[in-house]
Amino acid sequence: MRCPYCQEEMRPGYIPNGEQPVQWIPNGERPSHISFSVAETGVALINQFKPLQANGYRAEAHYCPKCGIAIAPTSK
Ligand SMILES: [Zn+2]
Repeated sequence: MRCPYCQEEMRPGYIPNGEQPVQWIPNGERPSHISFSVAETGVALINQFKPLQANGYRAEAHYCPKCGIAIAPTSK
């Protein structure tokens, strides 16, 4: 996927649903084992902590390091 802002190729990755802040993580990397922290290779999205019951889902998302944006397709 190309970035709509700078047209460069975006990095494939995902957004996990768990105890950590909402963040983008490159494919092949895992979320931090420590709660409430961003993975070493992760990039935090702007978000606030809200307790969640659900866990184990992950959303596909692409990240542009130049523009600092992540794009996540929906199921529509
Ligand atoms: Zn870009």
